[in-house]
Amino acid sequence: MLRGVELRGVRIPHNKATAELATVRMPVPTQVIMPMNQHVGAPCEVQVKRRAHVDVGTLLGHTDARMSADIFSPVSGTVREIRSIHYSNGRSTQAVVIESDGEQTIDNNIAPPEVTDYASLVEAVRHSGIVGLGGAGFPTWLKMDSDLSTIDCWLVNGAECEPYLSSDYREMVEHPDTILHGIRTCLDFSGVPRARICIENNKPRAIELLREMSAGDDRIEVFELPARYPQGASRVILRNVTGRSVPRGGHLTDVGALLFNVTTMSEIGRFLQDGMPLVRRRITVMGDAIETPQNLEVCIGTPVKEILEFCGLKSQPRKVVIGGPMMGITQVEFDAPIVRANSGLLAFTNELVDRPQTTACIRCSACIDNCPMRLAPIDIQKAYMRRDVEKLDELMADLCVECGTCSYVCPAKQPLAQSTRFARAFLRAKQREAKGRR
Ligand code: SF4
Ligand code: SF4
Repeated sequence: MLRGVELRGVRIPHNKATAELATVRMPVPTQVIMPMNQHVGAPCEVQVKRRAHVDVGTLLGHTDARMSADIFSPVSGTVREIRSIHYSNGRSTQAVVIESDGEQTIDNNIAPPEVTDYASLVEAVRHSGIVGLGGAGFPTWLKMDSDLSTIDCWLVNGAECEPYLSSDYREMVEHPDTILHGIRTCLDFSGVPRARICIENNKPRAIELLREMSAGDDRIEVFELPARYPQGASRVILRNVTGRSVPRGGHLTDVGALLFNVTTMSEIGRFLQDGMPLVRRRITVMGDAIETPQNLEVCIGTPVKEILEFCGLKSQPRKVVIGGPMMGITQVEFDAPIVRANSGLLAFTNELVDRPQTTACIRCSACIDNCPMRLAPIDIQKAYMRRDVEKLDELMADLCVECGTCSYVCPAKQPLAQSTRFARAFLRAKQREAKGRR
């Protein structure tokens, strides 16, 4: 178990200026780029050939590998190319490039799935292309395919604690019906007795609306959380909502809980009604370089540069981030597409990007005091610099949730989150190596 003390977090400026703006649907782009690895597992194999015609919802990628989710076309048009693309993190993957014909004709196979029991519900979601839409990209069907005999609570994560992002909030105020349809169907067929929709208390409209619409269904509770970052991290929200902690190396299911992002749950509800797999998603486009900040519903696969052009740039951005400012990934390649786990696109100018010089640690302990996982980031940094595997293991570097809080609070501007991320990867690799030798 974790050390049995309250998990922590920080108050950070929310900067959610787009929160009360209704979602705008971006016109269909001229071209979409569909990478085959839009989930945590093995990449899909391409299922279409060059010059083939595809419709909205046509299967583009599939693999029988367990940790994966099928990929579908968001546009109708012609497959122009199947090529390798490179990400800013150095990885590369196969991608299907489709030129849109602007017609948006729907694939003939699209129909609401027939669901009669929990197994058929999981099977339906398996062919929906739905993955964790809060950023995780974990195949949703696989999460549902857990042993549910000990699960007593289905948590729905509407915390959206990252600054700037308001995509989940818009889902809660614009589509509470599909969120509740998804929850009720999951509860009906799984036998899990209750669900809790967890929302930070800086979103009173979403709390009120979901309470009003779930009134009379005793299985569903809307749970109000204090607005503290990183409230939405899975182990943090679990602890704050249920008081439970996950054993080191374990999963939420080990302590009787399942956790789904609120937009993921809404997509399940929508898919059950219309049968269209996941081909579009909402992203928050913000940052001081953006002319018209907004929540935009885009075709998955839309290139970043087309979205920036659509929203307009006040000046050339110096930094573009996919995701939120705390956990997002900086982009160097603007031709890169938005993929299904992305919930934000931020563009900043010099003023907000320039970081003060890093200075020596003053041993203030702010990084330790504020780490939600009660880790000691500065000690992890030192142990990682020595590549001291035993010390990293003792410091439990593998429990880092990569929230960025330590870097944010450090007065010396030490790159703690970055070093903890490297340390975690290094420790895990060494642990895997050791396991392989045994
Ligand atoms: S990034 Fe990791 S070490 Fe830093 S505060 Fe978050 S959980 Fe703790
Ligand atoms: S917050 Fe920064 S200055 Fe303070 S102990 Fe941690 S590393 Fe040192």
